[in-house]
Amino acid sequence: MRKIVFCIIALSLVPAFALFPALAQPFEAAMIKQGLVDVQTIDPTILVELKYSTTDNFVGKDVYGDLTRAYMQPMAARKLAMASKYLQAHHPNLRLLVYDAARPRSAQWNLWNALPDLPERERRKYVADPRQGSIHNYGCAVDLTVATADGKPLDMGTKYDFFGELAYPSREASLLKSGKLTQKQLDNRLILRTAMRQGGFTPIEYEWWHFNALSREKAKMVFRIVD
Ligand SMILES: [Zn+2]
Repeated sequence: MRKIVFCIIALSLVPAFALFPALAQPFEAAMIKQGLVDVQTIDPTILVELKYSTTDNFVGKDVYGDLTRAYMQPMAARKLAMASKYLQAHHPNLRLLVYDAARPRSAQWNLWNALPDLPERERRKYVADPRQGSIHNYGCAVDLTVATADGKPLDMGTKYDFFGELAYPSREASLLKSGKLTQKQLDNRLILRTAMRQGGFTPIEYEWWHFNALSREKAKMVFRIVD
């Protein structure tokens, strides 16, 4: 008995990242400690390619280092699994492809500071103000697209993190009318949006790839920010 108690005390003194030597970053350990889960452990068919862990993002820099797993709050991960299930029930050859999920606030600052030429009001359309916290910082938002089972993303009309009207779901009708968005591209966005709504997510006005599992107010009430 004394041995068990000793083990429990000893384990509680070990930082989480020491228990998971393969973990990429201290913030990955922090996310696990805060109860966030790797979405692929809930649904292994979900594809993950964290764009901020590469240089293929609007900053042109690797913001996440070695982090390769997508973490979310368990309730958000379960919603994502529901969306994934709905997608595959209707399109067996398609998969959700996650570009970003929980994002530590330190990374939020890097993204915020990467757009110095935009006035703060404009900037807030694309990157949440780190002082207020993004819903990503609570592990309740996800950026994603739809891909074929072998990982090829569908054509959504713009790349991920394209900052401009062409990415606005709120402008799709007029973009289609003016020929800037094709019917096929819109159909692809609707495949994504329908699946995500079925999972219980809410889309936003300015980015076809972003979905919230909870409002910022609710996320703030229920969860702690990942720093
Ligand atoms: Zn987002």
